[in-house]
Amino acid sequence: MESTTKPDTTTHQSMFHAVLARLDKAAELFGIKPEIAEILRHPKKEVKVSLPVKMDDGSIKVFEGFRTIHSTHLGPSKGGIRYAMDVNDDEVRALAAWMTIKCAIANIPYGGGKGGVKCDPRKMSEGELERMTRAYTRSMADIFGENKDVPAPDMGTGKREMAWLLDEFNRIKGEDCPGVVTGKPITLGGSKGREAATGRGVMVAALAAMKKMGINHKTATAAVQGFGNVGSNAARLLASKSIKIQAISDHTAAYFNANGIDIDAAIKFAASNGNILKGFTGGEEIDKNSILTLNVDLLVPAAIQGVITEANAKDIKAKLIVEGANGPTEAEADEILNNKGIIVVPDVLANGGGVTVSYFEWVQNKYGHYWTEEEVNAKHDTSMAQAFENCWYNSQQYKTSMRIGAYITALKRLDKAIRYKGSF
Ligand code: NAD
Repeated sequence: MESTTKPDTTTHQSMFHAVLARLDKAAELFGIKPEIAEILRHPKKEVKVSLPVKMDDGSIKVFEGFRTIHSTHLGPSKGGIRYAMDVNDDEVRALAAWMTIKCAIANIPYGGGKGGVKCDPRKMSEGELERMTRAYTRSMADIFGENKDVPAPDMGTGKREMAWLLDEFNRIKGEDCPGVVTGKPITLGGSKGREAATGRGVMVAALAAMKKMGINHKTATAAVQGFGNVGSNAARLLASKSIKIQAISDHTAAYFNANGIDIDAAIKFAASNGNILKGFTGGEEIDKNSILTLNVDLLVPAAIQGVITEANAKDIKAKLIVEGANGPTEAEADEILNNKGIIVVPDVLANGGGVTVSYFEWVQNKYGHYWTEEEVNAKHDTSMAQAFENCWYNSQQYKTSMRIGAYITALKRLDKAIRYKGSF
């Protein structure tokens, strides 16, 4: 095997090293065999493609596309597709590994994968995005498959892109393969409840943590960073449980209102304002970064990775952080937050609601029978609450943070699966 050296966790450069830092810590505490941990320290397969796309002005632009399969020990690899300018092989590798951990925690029969295209979707027309998504799908036609590798939306993609992906894949295979992708529009085999599922999981995890911590959610305050799929749904659902959302933000602006922001009004505003918050009048505009250090009970980072760092962790005042985004906390900040007594419900648990309902979508596609939204939400809430309990139990049992407790929860399943399969 190529490397057995420990990752350099002092660098801010590598997201994958942030995964390995936590994995190594959990592996050591749990006492997993070094060979098993070593398998999980390496992705199973990585693919990089060039995607020539005809732009609206007639020029041809070549985009870089990625797909990493981190593990298939528990089932087909599962993971979203991200469209963003900072997509790169390290980031995709990290996100794929997180999916392995996340699916194991959620106790669903999937491994971990992730993909992405380096592009700025906000600067592309619908036609350009469609041609690029179809080109990406053609390049990945041998990778994707209902029982091989199942993509879904992530940052910069949604049900529209998943519909194009499904259509292109169906054309290539010459048959209807709805289970090859999740996060589809409902008319094409999508699941009710999928769109709000990640935000819903954040809400269930936040309530469960507050109960353990003795915080009354009816008098609790919160700040939510990011107002896309995860942030807006998390804010809406937390508000529906009487949690006062005092601050929200996106990449354009942040707003504070001590009496609580009217989240439905903010959602309506963003929808009519090109999906951005800038110009919202339901709160006072504040510095975007200050949303992380407000004096609230609950902080939900639901935008991008790497926002809670060694530099700002000491200024965080929230008692509880529930990570809606993937990787919002750098590994170096973990200890600072732990020492301050802040409970962090980690991404691999807190944002697992999306993949849980993706799994329900896949089951419904295979079954050819569809559930009501109430059924989906009830199954989701039970599954999320159980995952939370397992991670909490392991954090107590191993006297560690919830993050490492969550990794141990995953390692227990992965260790068994790898040893049972034993293909080495
Ligand atoms: P999205 O594209 O719908 O929204 C992203 C939001 O973050 C936007 O409101 C954007 O303005 C905001 N943002 C970007 N940069 C910011 C900054 N510097 N400061 C404040 N806000 C900023 O993406 P999403 O699907 O909501 O995903 C958000 C995060 O959640 C990502 O880390 C993603 O990997 C993770 N996630 C998403 C899902 C899902 O089902 N969509 C599931 C699990 C995890």
